[in-house]
Amino acid sequence: MERIERVAFIGLGIMGSRMAANLCRAGFEVHAFNRTRARSEELAERHGAHVADTPREAAAAAQATVTMVVDSPDVEQVLLGEDGAAHGMSAGHLAIDCSTISPEASRSIGARLRERGVGFLDAPVTGSSPRAEDGTLTIMVGGERADYERALPVLEAMGLLVVYAGPQGQGSMVKLINNAVAAANAAALAEALVLAERAGVDTDALVRVMAAGSGDSAMLALKARPMLERDFSPLFKLDHMLKDVRHTLAAARAAGVELPLGERIERLYAEASERGHGSDDFAAVVEALDREMRPISR
Ligand code: NAP
Repeated sequence: MERIERVAFIGLGIMGSRMAANLCRAGFEVHAFNRTRARSEELAERHGAHVADTPREAAAAAQATVTMVVDSPDVEQVLLGEDGAAHGMSAGHLAIDCSTISPEASRSIGARLRERGVGFLDAPVTGSSPRAEDGTLTIMVGGERADYERALPVLEAMGLLVVYAGPQGQGSMVKLINNAVAAANAAALAEALVLAERAGVDTDALVRVMAAGSGDSAMLALKARPMLERDFSPLFKLDHMLKDVRHTLAAARAAGVELPLGERIERLYAEASERGHGSDDFAAVVEALDREMRPISR
């Protein structure tokens, strides 16, 4: 199989814009498509990417296509819909989906692409925008091992830890389980911080102690300050976290398992979303806890 030198990149949002920039920096010829064209023009100006008018045009100029959109229907649309990338791919092309979608959708899209002689990897990422920016994402990959090995130079330009997770759909599955834990951690942290505020605790002291001990977590490092300051500038939108928790619940049901904690977490994030925080950072789950933690009458 020929080495991948030309990459189509579809979806230049918070994550995709930074990941595509790293592909440009690593020397790949990048053909970018974004629904809102200004973002691909910015990538072209700042990093020398080529702007494509459609996903199909981007893929036709490349040997591999990376998608970084939002959910399963979006990936289907940009790959297999009208003017979708699949229509520009010839046999031997490799599609790499980095969005977080359902494992079932990953398997179905993979099967449809394989009918065209196109390889497909579900390769979601974790690490949020700072690690997308400096190319140190963790990337978990499901699909054929040979496709994974061929994709490695592309993935290593965007990530520091790249892990092969097994057959198609298992990258998505690993990602969902990871995010269910992150969503629960963030909710537990939010509850702790609201308790501290209500009990008059010095929250700086609390955070310093937690960071040095058993209360430490990636969520503490990333979300304690935004939660305390109620600064919800989006690094990872709350609605995207809610999507991931819902996919985890569905994947658990498909595996015949109930997730009691997952169900509770889903309701918290759904409540925050219903109250208008869907496009805010998921640190805004603190607002849902703030409302639910009513004073106990004594
Ligand atoms: P985002 O900022 O909302 O960007 C989404 C991108 O997808 C935008 O470029 C958007 O185009 C494009 N898009 C969405 N639906 C589309 C459609 N139907 N057709 C064409 N383009 C479409 O999201 P993000 O934070 O980069 O996240 C992208 C994916 O990575 C999601 O699956 C998310 O769960 C996952 N993820 C995010 C993070 C994080 O920390 N942010 C971390 C790990 C994984 P427009 O510009 O036109 O809107």
